[in-house]
Amino acid sequence: MFDATQPAKSQCDNACLHCGAELEQKEGRGRIRRFCDGDHGKAYRRRMRALGFDIG
Ligand SMILES: [Zn+2]
Repeated sequence: MFDATQPAKSQCDNACLHCGAELEQKEGRGRIRRFCDGDHGKAYRRRMRALGFDIG
């Protein structure tokens, strides 16, 4: 699925969803990192809500 509202780089699984920075995924741990830090996670959710997406 292509989301035209996002820069192409952030479509990558290894990039911060907020700023597109490359992330180092630690293998063997359950959770995949989606943001380069917690503030970007918050900023992303706030921005998505501002755009009308309810993503929790
Ligand atoms: Zn980021």
